[in-house]
Amino acid sequence: MSFAKLGLSSPLVQAITELGYKTPTPIQEQAIPAILSGNDLIATAQTGTGKTAAFVLPLLERFTTAGTLRGKRIRALILVPTRELAVQVEASVAQYAKHLRLTSMAVYGGVDSESQKQRLIEGIDILVATPGRLLDLVHQRALHFDELNAMVLDEADRMVDMGFVDDINKIIERLPENRQNLLFSATMNGDVRALAYGFSDSKMTDLA
Ligand code: AMP
Repeated sequence: MSFAKLGLSSPLVQAITELGYKTPTPIQEQAIPAILSGNDLIATAQTGTGKTAAFVLPLLERFTTAGTLRGKRIRALILVPTRELAVQVEASVAQYAKHLRLTSMAVYGGVDSESQKQRLIEGIDILVATPGRLLDLVHQRALHFDELNAMVLDEADRMVDMGFVDDINKIIERLPENRQNLLFSATMNGDVRALAYGFSDSKMTDLA
């Protein structure tokens, strides 16, 4: 199997070839076509399986084919449990989007929010965020979700364990209802499933 056969076009195939990826990992083979089809998705995938590329690549592909690549509004929101993961996932987005005209940014707590707000005003396509800081920025009216197409919960089990469910639900209330929802988790349990099925009312691909 090749990345092109999974449905990714040349700017993305070129970026991942430059990173040395030769073939898709199993989670990528399963998740990429499902996400490209527009379905919601729930998947079990540990760190190290290539899960980040499994959701970032098809989202970028969908934005490319949607045509409008230099918006001023957030198109995708990726929620992660920790600052470290926010930094790491945003770095992956930037690598994969290298040949696309898309901007990405990570926001997380523990640092001054003024510079984060300034960059958000300039316009960001893909935002990676921890839930607490994201809600702070929402309350400061620094974020606009009216053009949001997709939301990802990454390491959802850790977010549940860290007590972020209420924050996540408050964030989801602010998002447009017509959006694609993706949830990845290293482990699967009733709480994580309830979270996914709670916010999804469209067709869901279940890889959990
Ligand atoms: P992740 O599971 O998202 O934390 O990714 C683990 C590591 O695998 C990262 O360093 C990625 O750059 C790398 N990676 C992801 N997909 C592939 C692939 N198809 N081939 C080779 N390396 C990959």
